[in-house]
Amino acid sequence: SGPEDSHEFQAETKMLLDIVAKSLYSEKEVFIRELVSNANDAIEKFRYLSTTEASAFTDVDRPLEIHLAVNKDAKTLTFQDTGIGMTREELVANLGVIAHSGSKAFLAELKNSKGDPSGIIGQFGVGFYSAFMVADKVTVYTRSVKPDSKGYIWTSDGAGSYSIQEGEHVHSGTKVVLHLKPDCMEFCDEDRVKGILKKYSNFVGSPIFLSGKRVNTIQPLWLMDPKEVTPEMHEEFYRFVGYSYDRPRFTLHYRADAPINVRCILYFPEGKPGLFELSRDADIGVALYCRKVLIKHRAESLLPKWLRFVKGVVDSEDIPLNLSRELLQDSAQISKIRTVLSNRVIRFLQDRARKEKESYEEFLRNYGVFFKEGILTSQDQMEKEELSRLLHYESSQLPQGEKVTLAEYCSRMKPGQRDIYYLAAPSRQLAESSPYYEALKDRDVEVLFCYEPYDELVLVQLREFDKKYLTSVEKQMRQEKKTVDYDADSSGLSKSDADELVAWTKKILSGKAHTVQMTAFLDAHPCVLTVEEMASARHFVRTQFSQVP
Ligand code: ADP
Ligand code: MG
Repeated sequence: SGPEDSHEFQAETKMLLDIVAKSLYSEKEVFIRELVSNANDAIEKFRYLSTTEASAFTDVDRPLEIHLAVNKDAKTLTFQDTGIGMTREELVANLGVIAHSGSKAFLAELKNSKGDPSGIIGQFGVGFYSAFMVADKVTVYTRSVKPDSKGYIWTSDGAGSYSIQEGEHVHSGTKVVLHLKPDCMEFCDEDRVKGILKKYSNFVGSPIFLSGKRVNTIQPLWLMDPKEVTPEMHEEFYRFVGYSYDRPRFTLHYRADAPINVRCILYFPEGKPGLFELSRDADIGVALYCRKVLIKHRAESLLPKWLRFVKGVVDSEDIPLNLSRELLQDSAQISKIRTVLSNRVIRFLQDRARKEKESYEEFLRNYGVFFKEGILTSQDQMEKEELSRLLHYESSQLPQGEKVTLAEYCSRMKPGQRDIYYLAAPSRQLAESSPYYEALKDRDVEVLFCYEPYDELVLVQLREFDKKYLTSVEKQMRQEKKTVDYDADSSGLSKSDADELVAWTKKILSGKAHTVQMTAFLDAHPCVLTVEEMASARHFVRTQFSQVP
């Protein structure tokens, strides 16, 4: 062995290590998932590179496997893989610095959750560093498969620093040895470790051995006949691919050969979206494979951004293996897959809305906001309209709590009606007593009530549905004049009193109101304010005129 070379961890890494080590997290076991995933990633990287640049590597023909071993006497648990290995520079860059998205997301979420990490470590997994939840010393032996690479030994107690030295008899690939903490001896129990492997790592592409015996059953479910996959298999697979602890609410197992080859399983979660998923910065939750070889874990361009809450796997034989990962984003094949999948997903959910009404309602309460985002961000009117079919609203013609879709609304429009009317209000009660609604009430047209903050903006963006205009009742009121017939109605103001009132009001609101006029629309309200078109302007107006009843 060569001389030792000692390094400090990056500040962010130190902070993470500190949190991880001190956390009384009950599911410490997730470190096994993390280290096995790293081993498998390393093997996949090697497999991927060896198919594209085989000649550049040594040892291309060795078996690609992951071996775990427990040693009760030495109090160690060891993970060994025949993957790509690391050079000295890679060791420093990968294990000394937080570079990966999971840990960054973890730290971001930690800020949101005001400092209690216990609930979120397991959700994210904190990658390699999770080893320090159970080990007071970790030693990594690694040798890169690149020609002429030396072997290195990396050691740390997870406190402030780590050291690297050269090692002579290090095999290519990586071996991680955990020296277990006294209260973590369960992790050198073979049965316990086997149970954890089954739980999290059952579908890992590379063969996993524990004490020489094969543990994982490789079954890429997405390549199977959908009829042969049981709900239990889906549940297990979902937990694995989604890093989730809930269950799939809906499962779309879809296969097509044209216009592009796709085999996929997409899961729609039963639980609520996490804070991080709600942010537009979150990555897509779906992995891209080509013939079972992982191309990319969170494959950004594979689904539209508003489907980032969907978990699963997409496999396509039409993705050239040697496509560089950076180029994926611009690839024509990827954008073809994206179009196929987003259309299929919308159709699938429209079906769920019809066939699993109750479950769909609950789903919509949790995830409807993503579809609204889709309508707001899509550039394509057809797609906007298809997406709008996934939403539904209360209506003036239905009891509170019952909902109607835009399509249902259209199917019962009166002959000659060319608009879909809606009214945005904070609640049913305020909608029904609204002067805007009162104005349309006589005409007996159906009005959609929407209560959510973005509903109005979404409907303005949508503009049309099935060739009908989406029209707010407020806009309708501005467009359609209804002048007062003073001669016919002697119970109200005389024409001269009315004119005087209008003149006075104009003076009082001078510079604040564009027009002041008498209208015969209202019965129960003395006056009403209307704003031209812009839904967001209303919120502004509401605060500016808050003194006006
Ligand atoms: P992530 O796997 O999300 O990138 P980790 O903290 O789990 O983050 O690992 C950090 C990095 O260390 C990996 O991206 C990889 O480059 C490197 N690494 C970890 N384990 C191995 C391994 N067994 N073989 C090769 N490289 C590894
Ligand atoms: Mg990892």
